[in-house]
Amino acid sequence: MSTITTDQPSRITLETAPADELALVPGTVVVDEIVGDRAPWSGVVETGDVLTIVDLYGNQAVDTLFYGAGDHTIRYSAQATIAAQGTIFLTTGSVIRDQESVPMMTIVGDEVGNHDTLGGACSQESNTLRYGHHTKHQHACVENFLIGGARHGIGKRDIVGNVNFFMNVPVDPDGSLGIVDGLSAPGKRLALRAEMDTLVLISNCPQINNPCNGFDPTAVRVIVTRPAAS
Ligand SMILES: [Zn+2]
Repeated sequence: MSTITTDQPSRITLETAPADELALVPGTVVVDEIVGDRAPWSGVVETGDVLTIVDLYGNQAVDTLFYGAGDHTIRYSAQATIAAQGTIFLTTGSVIRDQESVPMMTIVGDEVGNHDTLGGACSQESNTLRYGHHTKHQHACVENFLIGGARHGIGKRDIVGNVNFFMNVPVDPDGSLGIVDGLSAPGKRLALRAEMDTLVLISNCPQINNPCNGFDPTAVRVIVTRPAAS
């Protein structure tokens, strides 16, 4: 009898692990999708449902926008979110707010501890400015937002400042920003509970010119659970 030894890394396990076990908040699984590397994703998270994002392979920036599901003029506001909580970083307890400071979602679980909402989204235009004209052809988050948003009638004028989950943007005492190696790791998770029916628009960041994705964009997993009614 031969023995087959396998050395499958945990990445396979994380992609196929039961969604209800991977979700940070238990409940009936209503969405379970792999978002491929460099791809967009969008979906409505209904009030009370919880979106868990799994950084399958570690250090993958997940650029995210939020809109009112029934009214896209209700939009995420980084300014309102930061002003209300009095700190620039997002973690457990942070409330994602719209431009009127109305709660849209609340971060109810975070295995990283620090997420950015200052660094913005990469675009073909900013890439050419930062990294040179030879990057003009490279896919970028703004393009993902437009592709994913088109399904919902969201266009360029609707794109606002975003959240960068799993992206590490430290701010020095002098106020300068950096984009440096991530704090995340394979399997780290973040969970958001919807306070209103919220359209979540994700760009799984394709950036390869700075360390925000470890120079190697990888897939993430999105799971939406509906907690049992109490
Ligand atoms: Zn990006």
